[in-house]
Amino acid sequence: MNLDFDLNHIWHPYTSTLSPLPCYPIVSAQGVYLKLENGKTLVDGMSSWWAAIHGYNHPLLNQAAHEQIDKMSHVMFGGITHQPAIELCERLLSLVPNNLSKVFLADSGSVSVEVALKMALQYWQAKGENRSQFLTLKHGYHGDTFAAMSVTDPDNSMHKLYKGFLPEHHFADSPQTGFWQTWQPSDIDSFAAKLDMHQSEIAAVILEPIVQGAGGMRIYHPEYLRQVRKLCDRYNVLLIVDEIATGFGRTGKLFACEHANIQPDIMCVGKALTGGYMTLAATLTTKHVADTVCSGEAGCFMHGPTFMANPLACAVANQSLALLQTNQWQQQTRQIETWFAQLLPKLNQYEEVKDTRWLGAIGVIELHKPVDIALIQQHFVAQGVWIRPFGKLIYMMPPFISNRKHITQLVNAIESAIIQSDNLLVH
Ligand SMILES: *Cc1c(COP(=O)(O)O)cnc(C)c1O
Repeated sequence: MNLDFDLNHIWHPYTSTLSPLPCYPIVSAQGVYLKLENGKTLVDGMSSWWAAIHGYNHPLLNQAAHEQIDKMSHVMFGGITHQPAIELCERLLSLVPNNLSKVFLADSGSVSVEVALKMALQYWQAKGENRSQFLTLKHGYHGDTFAAMSVTDPDNSMHKLYKGFLPEHHFADSPQTGFWQTWQPSDIDSFAAKLDMHQSEIAAVILEPIVQGAGGMRIYHPEYLRQVRKLCDRYNVLLIVDEIATGFGRTGKLFACEHANIQPDIMCVGKALTGGYMTLAATLTTKHVADTVCSGEAGCFMHGPTFMANPLACAVANQSLALLQTNQWQQQTRQIETWFAQLLPKLNQYEEVKDTRWLGAIGVIELHKPVDIALIQQHFVAQGVWIRPFGKLIYMMPPFISNRKHITQLVNAIESAIIQSDNLLVH
């Protein structure tokens, strides 16, 4: 591969053209393995950012893609419908909380968040109330488009960078009680106070249920989410749950909001929806919210992307959900959670480690100091694993098909990086 061309001309996520870092050339992927151009294979600890839950190159997902591409890759969704979309949405609705009954198919997670926020705004407009603010949590992450950024953690640089252009919303303190800890009732105080103070202007609460992902890999107590639902009901505010990272089994439940037994008014899904094959997301809502939105001045919901409900993506997503319905994810994620529970606590012995935490097929090691990403990546590749930390966080969300050997190899690679921390952490 022409890596020089890549380095000089191609932007990768969050990278600089002034000091670009070399990328690792991957030529194929199979099961839990990524194959480098030099023939070396790496155990994947990232599922390509939460997505490849069934592993790579899955025969049934491949078959679904092949069969669909021979019929049609894409047709417009305005005035046209097709079997892949109908089958996918039917299956999706059979899996999500049963108050949700309307599906809007979106192109990516960020777009599904934009769609959710727009739904909430149009809902209140239709009701003749001027509510244009959102309440969310610190340390949250909802995507990289403008409205999604505006509800993403305010202390990271995005808000500073785009100040004056980003709408300013309300941020409650993020939950402090960990998933496995004893619930501290005061944990909800900041959220309750913000809601009480701004209730008449708040259209909706948006949050990631149980696991705050890219904003800090924080795993919080289900009671927090239960209280949020209760307060949203009390103050008559919509609740949007962003299940883009947590959805489809990752936390050990099919959807993370099941840990708290709550039903959202609007839900976003993405990432693992197609089993990591291509981009597709969805925003789901209730009949009440949908019908209210459409009773407003516009008479419809004002959104309709060119590649909406791409048949190829829908066909693969439908097969990915069918695979989930064989129910193995439950055993698999429980197994992975058990292995994390056995392997991660011993890392707390190192003074570099601030905390270890896990839930379902998510394992997190929080350090006191940020990692040197280029060096630690090199170390991981040499150890035969693919893990991509950010800041002080080294985290794993492996494919559900990972076995004990794979998980052990991932954790061992992290342990050896911590032992060599003099070289691999920023000082
Ligand atoms: C990844 C992510 C998004 C954004 O999804 P994209 O497909 O990257 O646009 C939004 N919310 C959460 C919780 C995510 O993890």
